[in-house]
Amino acid sequence: MLLGMTASHAAWLHDDADVMGTRITVELFHPDASVAQQGVDAVIAEMHRIDNNMSPWIETSELARLNRDAAEKPVTVSREFFDLIERSLSFSRMTDGAFDITFASVGFLYDYREGVRPDDRQRQQAAALINYLNLQLDDTDRTIHYSKPGVRIDLGGIAKGHAVDRSIELLQSLGIEQALVTAGGDSRTVGERWGRPWNIGVRHPDDADKLVAVIPLQDVAVSTSGDYQRYFDEDGVRYHHIINPDSGDSARGLRSVTIIGPDATTTDALSTSVFVLGLKKGMDLVNRLPGIDAILVDAHGRLHYSNELLPAKKPDDSVKATTESVTH
Ligand code: ADP
Ligand code: MG
Repeated sequence: MLLGMTASHAAWLHDDADVMGTRITVELFHPDASVAQQGVDAVIAEMHRIDNNMSPWIETSELARLNRDAAEKPVTVSREFFDLIERSLSFSRMTDGAFDITFASVGFLYDYREGVRPDDRQRQQAAALINYLNLQLDDTDRTIHYSKPGVRIDLGGIAKGHAVDRSIELLQSLGIEQALVTAGGDSRTVGERWGRPWNIGVRHPDDADKLVAVIPLQDVAVSTSGDYQRYFDEDGVRYHHIINPDSGDSARGLRSVTIIGPDATTTDALSTSVFVLGLKKGMDLVNRLPGIDAILVDAHGRLHYSNELLPAKKPDDSVKATTESVTH
């Protein structure tokens, strides 16, 4: 109905913020500029809400409360938190334990910014506590209980994807049908950008300005895990934030894993998982899962594409990261 409609300006809005220790990007369109602004504000608020609930560093978060109390007694958590833990466990089962939120039982001994790591004995002792079966969930009471003292969890491998998915839901409930939301290495797009697909670029592991692949995408999520996000090098060995649950040491063999799939919670968890699984087992898993694709960069800088992406679009050497594409 045109009658009574006020003139308002259609708007593409773009906003960045730093939440959860990473960069948040929102880009969206709505014919009504005020709705567009509402969308941007809602996403930033949602990111803060989830960070406050899931950060290990915020003492009042549900996650910090669990790590403090859950070895002593079952702790009641919110439905959202409980469901995300259950989803994490389903990825643990799917990946034979490569994805395991109890990695944090060792993970907390590392400080990548300060170049701190456990010695071999500390690492092996703490690694014995990594096992998702040490988490006991009770769905009726919505409680979580750790079966051993010393067990810790961290949702760093899945919470950003979850936050991106929640943000996209919020935008869709506002009637926004063209959007991109990114949290660090996790993105999801809805609709098109200026009548064209969104371009997602995979960056070179050693050069943030260089792309190794560009893929046009619509209505999908993309996550990248790399060994260049949080790390330090010591005696030629890289210690980085993706932990092999078997050893408690950083997972080695790949440089980066990009996963494309239907939602960001899935792609986030799988990018971390495939990084741990390595080239052969990781690619086998991806090729078994319907609707999931992957681009892997191995230790020699070689690219590997999952079956359905072959042949994917590769940029020539002149392609540089630009605002034309979202770079991971
Ligand atoms: P980011 O986007 O933060 O770089 P990734 O998706 O690559 O994150 O996941 C890395 C994060 O996942 C780590 O910082 C840590 O919090 C968590 N993590 C590390 N190893 C594992 C693992 N084996 N299983 C589940 N989560 C992990
Ligand atoms: Mg991930």
